[in-house]
Amino acid sequence: MKNINKESFKKEYSKRFLELTGKRIEDGTNEQKYYVLGSLIRGYVMNDWLNTQSRYKKNNKKEIYYFSMEFLIGRLLSDNLINLGIREVCQEALADLNIKLTELEELENDQGLGNGGLGRLAACFLDSMSSLSIAGHGCGIRYKYGFFNQKIIEGKQVEVPDNWLKQDNPWEVKKKDESEIIKFGGEVRLENVNNKLVAKHYNYEAVLAVPYDTPVVGYDNGVVNTLRLWSAETVNDEFNFEAFSKGDFSRAYEYKNSVESITSILYPDDSNYEGKILRLKQEYFFVSAGLQSIIKKYKNKNGEIRKLNEKIAIHINDTHPVLVIPELIRILIDEEGLSWEEAWDITNKTVAYTNHTILSEALEKWPVDMIKKLLPRIFLIIEEINERFCRELWSRYPGDWDKIAQMAIIADGYVKMAHLAIVGSHSVNGVAKLHTEILKKREMVDFYNYYPEKFNNKTNGINHRRWLLKINPNLRDLLIENIGEGFIKDPLRLIEFKDKLEDKLVLEELCIIKLDNKINLADYIYNTKNIKVDPRSIFDTQIKRIHGYKRQVLNCLRIMDLYNRILENPCMNINNRTFIFAGKAAPGYLLAKNVIELINVVADKINNDKRVNDKIKVVFMENYNVSLAEKIIPATDLSEQISMATKEASGTSNMKFMMNGALTIATLDGANIEIKENVGEDNIIIFGTKSEEVLEIYNNHGYYSYDLYNNDYRIKRVVDSLVDGTYSNDRERFRIIYDNLLRYNDEFFVLKDFNSYLKAQDKVDKLYSDRCNWQKKCGLNIASSGVFSSDRTIQEYFNEIWS
Ligand SMILES: *Cc1c(COP(=O)(O)O)cnc(C)c1O
Repeated sequence: MKNINKESFKKEYSKRFLELTGKRIEDGTNEQKYYVLGSLIRGYVMNDWLNTQSRYKKNNKKEIYYFSMEFLIGRLLSDNLINLGIREVCQEALADLNIKLTELEELENDQGLGNGGLGRLAACFLDSMSSLSIAGHGCGIRYKYGFFNQKIIEGKQVEVPDNWLKQDNPWEVKKKDESEIIKFGGEVRLENVNNKLVAKHYNYEAVLAVPYDTPVVGYDNGVVNTLRLWSAETVNDEFNFEAFSKGDFSRAYEYKNSVESITSILYPDDSNYEGKILRLKQEYFFVSAGLQSIIKKYKNKNGEIRKLNEKIAIHINDTHPVLVIPELIRILIDEEGLSWEEAWDITNKTVAYTNHTILSEALEKWPVDMIKKLLPRIFLIIEEINERFCRELWSRYPGDWDKIAQMAIIADGYVKMAHLAIVGSHSVNGVAKLHTEILKKREMVDFYNYYPEKFNNKTNGINHRRWLLKINPNLRDLLIENIGEGFIKDPLRLIEFKDKLEDKLVLEELCIIKLDNKINLADYIYNTKNIKVDPRSIFDTQIKRIHGYKRQVLNCLRIMDLYNRILENPCMNINNRTFIFAGKAAPGYLLAKNVIELINVVADKINNDKRVNDKIKVVFMENYNVSLAEKIIPATDLSEQISMATKEASGTSNMKFMMNGALTIATLDGANIEIKENVGEDNIIIFGTKSEEVLEIYNNHGYYSYDLYNNDYRIKRVVDSLVDGTYSNDRERFRIIYDNLLRYNDEFFVLKDFNSYLKAQDKVDKLYSDRCNWQKKCGLNIASSGVFSSDRTIQEYFNEIWS
């Protein structure tokens, strides 16, 4: 790719512009300029894309398919330019044409086909697989509407549809000729054909699955893998013909709409299971389409079906795609004529599963009746898996009905998807050490005892090309200047930066870079929120989904407490702080929505109180998404990772902040523990109840939030201020939060950890006062962050699961 030169690029761009828009560049809109650039870059990638596929075919390489309900990609333009190594050339060429590349980059709509961490992880994995020259592809759903856009109106979250495809998407290629048929409903009969029982499916509803392929460009290696997203259409563009010919047009359209609705919306729930039939349809739809196309391709390469697992690995991102297990068995038996034993063995060796959570409300279980009706053949297969598994359990634990009932896949009228995933796959991994330990010792302990060899840990990671090179170019340059470019392909080499931190000039550079980033963010905050913040204050940031367990309430209560204290003691000697929040609440999650409202109301009050304004400001930034994260993270001094211990499986924003030189204030939860191990305990601020104690309190019910409230004046004062008119004349306005803390005994230990959190924040303030020392700690965080690159994570998946 490097042999593109400026002049030829200018020529090609102008030519393409005319072809696609029928206009000269100077008469075009910026949107058109962006689209033409995108389509030109995609054109550049096409040859590499084809060559990569031919290479895989020729070398008969094992291919990995990462199945995920969500891919939270964000924007693609600049990442592709960076990975192709042509960003500078393009920037200069466009400048000659009077076009600012950075302006076009800002015009791209986020591809927001995910809720949060789980979907973003899938996106980071795609980049790492390509960049490590691993033959790994994504398989998911092309939602017509992505994760909703959030507006804040009178302090409240308002959800607005994300019609991201209103802007033409230059990255995808529709491949209608590679469509697949998906069958829903109907009846299945087992019929005797040549003395063999064969399942026949009648009266089903057929839906067409149409793939859209997006190239996934590796960094500087010519590799281009594929993200294949499926969209639902009617077969043969049909309407309901019967209704149509009778003149009942609205019913005729209804049919088309009902088919297309399968892929129209992303469910905006994170860490929460909802048994909606449309969701089940989505899950089977993309799983069946993906599998059918994989097997077709495999057979085209003359692959022997009995050796499928030697050439194909399928990974499922949480249980949402777990129907790959019965669906693969169905294909192998019903379409390929294999025996149950053969089909089971191949499936087991092909599929691996990642567990993402131990929150019980997030564990999928589908009513038997729903699966039976929608997917009759799949249900029969799940039943068979369950029966065989229970028989095995019976011979291992004779008479232990309780254990068998606990472990069964089908129980109490439900199919438990995590059990199906564990039984049907050869590998089960958690996403951070603590999380995997909790799976093994508690949540899945029976399964661990039964299949100890299946369980393993793969600590999450982030794509350092996006989350460092792209979003923090000045830091990138400083690193290259000091340790060379080696860390780009081998992020562990970031550790070489450690030695450079003895140099005062390097520390000063770090300080200047951070300040620069903070000035940019301050401008952005002023332009979007009309709030003036001081770039020299500590930028103290918590951005993530709004959720009880993530404890934005704890953060907000300490701000309210600090506000009280500054009013009491106006000469209080502290470093100025800017508190930054962003995050979306699931539309039906009232507590989370109440928290958003509280933060906004507190922000309003504090920001308009001149008595405290040279000291503190609070900003809630609207519509948290990948692109907003990219703006906030490089400008942050303090990263808030304050979930209740045991609740956050890993977290990944914690890694993004670390890599950009923020210090972390954290509980010992998820990957925070590994961040501490890598950076050293002096370079992170730890507080709060530890996981062992949390688990113990669960066992002996030894926590009463009322006691804390009654016995601690500061806690009482700040909790009372939720309902005493301090922040709102409507004293019921924050009742949900108040009740959660007291009446419902503070499920997430907000009050229990309050004092320890305040002390930790005091420590942060002291540390920040010694700027040189603080800067050195920031540098150590950057230098120690290489292990959290998703390159390391993917290499582990590849070596230990997929090979
Ligand atoms: C990284 C990221 C997340 C995950 O954040 P956590 O703090 O780990 O929950 C969620 N949303 C977006 C947009 C992200 O970039």
